[in-house]
Parts: sequence; structure tokens; C-alpha cells
Amino acid sequence: MNPLDYQAPSDLLSTRVIAITGAGDGIGKEAALTFARHGATVILMGRTVAKLEKVYDTIVSEKLAEPAIYPIDFFGATEADYIDMCNRIDEAFGKLDGILFNAALLGDRTPLENYSADTFARVMQVNVNAPFLMAKSLLPLLRKSDGASLVFTGSSVGYKGRAYWGAYAISKAAAENLMQTLADEEDGTSKVRANSINPGGTRTKMRAKAYPAENPADVKAPSVLMPAYLYLMGQDSKHVNGQQIDASGK
Ligand code: NAP
Repeated sequence: MNPLDYQAPSDLLSTRVIAITGAGDGIGKEAALTFARHGATVILMGRTVAKLEKVYDTIVSEKLAEPAIYPIDFFGATEADYIDMCNRIDEAFGKLDGILFNAALLGDRTPLENYSADTFARVMQVNVNAPFLMAKSLLPLLRKSDGASLVFTGSSVGYKGRAYWGAYAISKAAAENLMQTLADEEDGTSKVRANSINPGGTRTKMRAKAYPAENPADVKAPSVLMPAYLYLMGQDSKHVNGQQIDASGK
């Protein structure tokens, strides 16, 4: 079955508590709304609170499970902040059933020879170090779930490096390896699984920044991807671990 053709039952994620990073915009916003519409209690994480509040308001207006807003800047957050996050989610919900690692920075589109060391460090911090620290710190809480799903967000330039994509491509390759390492360590525990999805070209602000000359109408909407996101987050994929789902052909 192609995960993009998955047909999720409407209660797929009922009783599940799921954190989404970068939930205020783009693919993360669509995923947060979609998970909530399939029964999940979603924890909306991101740095622009006004955007998270809009997503929160939409979910509440649809009378879905009340979400939570968790403001965080993944550039500045330290390990202590993620340990605090673990404790606060534990106090509020007593468990965590899934994380969609979605927030990312594009950085510069320029040859490595010209690439700013500062931008390189920022992109690696948000796209690699932050998911590592968050996954590491939240694992004890994830193990309280009867089957937690970690979904990382890949990219075609992370599968194979490409000229002028700089830190973004390198960070996405590292995030794939982080997913695989976690998946291998958790393999057989049936408590936590990890997989990744490469959305491929999708109509968001990041895409518009990367391809300014492109007509956004020619690029698929985030909603097209949601069957695969639901598949990976729900229990129908509980046997799937360490897999890379490539949705770039859609
Ligand atoms: P987007 O519209 O730019 O959304 C990115 C989200 O991440 C935003 O909500 C942003 O918050 C958040 N974020 C960025 N830096 C952050 C930080 N330091 N702290 C907290 N939140 C931060 O991008 P998107 O296209 O939806 O991308 C979602 C994921 O898909 C990314 O991992 C991206 O690499 C991947 N992807 C996208 C495409 C595509 O064509 N769109 C293709 C392949 C892979 P603000 O709103 O506050 O900026």
C-alpha cells in the first residue's frame, strides 16, 4: 500500500497525544489540524505564538479535543528546556504518543565556499540538534505510550546532496540518520518507532523561498500529503520502523 493512498478511520488518533514542531505554518499546520480532526490531542510547538493561536482557535472552533500551545524556539532551546518539556507534558497528559519533527530552517542557497558559518550552525541547530535533544529527553515519556511514533521530515536533497543547498541538505541527511539510529536502537521494544517522510515540493513559505520564480499554483498543497502523515502517526503502521517514505513523486 502506498501511504499516500491510506484511508484513515475518522477516530484513528483518538486518545493519542501528539506533539508537532513548527505547527503554526505550512505542512506542520496542516498536520496539526489533520491529527486533531482524527481525534488527537495535539501539542502545537513553534516560535511564533500568534500563528499557533490561529491553529488552536480553528481546532477549538471545530469542537475537537482541546489542544495545547507550547512556545519554543528550537534555535535557542537547550537540553534543560527539553527535560522541562518532558516534565510539563508528563504533568499535563501523563504520556506522549507521537512527535512530528517538522520545524526546519532553509538557510542559504549558495555554494559551500560562500556559505556563512553562522547560518550553517543555525540550520544544524534547528534541523538536527533540536530533534536529537528533544527525542533524547522525551524518550522516557514516549515509552509510557503503548506504541509511540516519531516522524522525521526528510528532503530529496537529504537523500543525495545537491549543489547550493548547503546546510539544509546536510542537515536533512543527518536527520535521516538520526531517525535510523533511533529506530535501530528501539527495534524490538514495540514501544517507540521512528520513520521519516520526504514531502517533496509542497506549497509553503519555505518552498516559495527556495524557488522564488515558481508559480505556487503548480505545487501540491500540504493536504495531499496527509494520508501518509496519518498512516505513520497511527497504529496501522505499528510494525513500520526505520523506513523512509518518499512522497516527492506525488
Ligand atoms: P514552513 O512553511 O517554512 O514551516 C516551517 C515551520 O517551522 C514554521 O512553522 C516555522 O515557524 C517553524 N520553525 C522554523 N524555525 C523554527 C525555530 N527556530 N523554532 C521553532 N519553530 C521553527 O516550511 P514547510 O515547507 O512547511 O516545511 C515543513 C517541513 O517539510 C520542513 O522540515 C521542511 O524541511 C520539509 N520539506 C518541505 C518541502 C516543501 O516543498 N515545502 C520539501 C521537502 C521537505 P515560523 O512560522 O514561526 O517561522
